[in-house]
Amino acid sequence: MPNLVSKCGMDCGACPWGPYPRKEMTAKDFEQYRNDAKRILGYMPIKTPCVTCQTPDSEIPKESRLPNRKCLIRRCVDKTGVPNCAYCASFPCDTLKATAGAWNRESIEAKLGAPISEEAYHSFVEPFEGIKRLEAIRASLKPDEIVEPAKIPTSETRIADFPRNLPFSKEETASFKAVHNLLANLARSSLGLRGTDTFAQQHKLENQRAHVSRFLWLLGNYGKFEKETGTSLVVDAETYIDNRGSEKTLAIWSFVEDTVFKVLSEFGVCCERVALEGVDSDDLTTGTGYLRKKGWVLQMSFEEKVGSAATLKALQTYVQRLDNRYGARAFQRFRDADMQILLEP
Ligand code: SF4
Ligand code: SF4
Repeated sequence: MPNLVSKCGMDCGACPWGPYPRKEMTAKDFEQYRNDAKRILGYMPIKTPCVTCQTPDSEIPKESRLPNRKCLIRRCVDKTGVPNCAYCASFPCDTLKATAGAWNRESIEAKLGAPISEEAYHSFVEPFEGIKRLEAIRASLKPDEIVEPAKIPTSETRIADFPRNLPFSKEETASFKAVHNLLANLARSSLGLRGTDTFAQQHKLENQRAHVSRFLWLLGNYGKFEKETGTSLVVDAETYIDNRGSEKTLAIWSFVEDTVFKVLSEFGVCCERVALEGVDSDDLTTGTGYLRKKGWVLQMSFEEKVGSAATLKALQTYVQRLDNRYGARAFQRFRDADMQILLEP
């Protein structure tokens, strides 16, 4: 019997995406089952089943989408050399909690606003209660079976020096310096993540930094100053969705609200999603939590401690100059806070 506990503690033997539950079903029953999964979890199991988590990468058929070869937890567990996260001294790290702790009876019933039947719980929710399953495994382990997780050195932060002798007034230069400070502080921060020397957490940090930077870039490049007060940049839904670059998770509203907005607020950047007139706030996302391409705008303003609207204007000038000059290569310069462009006429 293969090991059917995934590296993050899910039950691959009962998972609706896996090969087992569907084995005895007729095509009609399987369609019903997929729809039930969508109603309860918000996602529909794919037709080609996952080959299960403990299948080594070399044995996953090329055409298989699951298990996800890039899954940070899966890679971290492999690098640590253990069967699953229960064996790890950092168990449960934040990366694991965000995945294996997301779906449980309480969170699903709260999302649905109603209790679910025992049958629905066992079929669709229990397989994903990863933390609970791992805690049971952990309780059965001897101390010498617990190992340190794979570590990687924290990535080097490349922040360019702020250029001297900028051809701007004292006030304008101070605003550009405030943008530089903001980017440098973001690049040096662990963004509230703990244990960022582990493989999983280090990659998570890199990923979050890239997304937060892209968000600032996007608002700076495409945002227009709000007419009435002139203190915030506003970008419409379609422009936002179309200009996310490689940072695709910026389309998932829960990520934007819980991570991007939260991180930026720590640095004095206030962000808000505003529904357009006549649009119900429930209609701003799809059933699976993706932002729709219409019906809302994003607003971003800077608190006084980061220089308010003057710094926002400096951000816009800097980003637009970079974009005009360097196109696709501009975003990396922005992430490095490279402001040499401001010396050019
Ligand atoms: S999707 Fe995840 S839990 Fe489901 S079978 Fe694949 S690896 Fe296992
Ligand atoms: S550090 Fe890696 S092995 Fe340890 S709990 Fe997190 S994801 Fe699992």
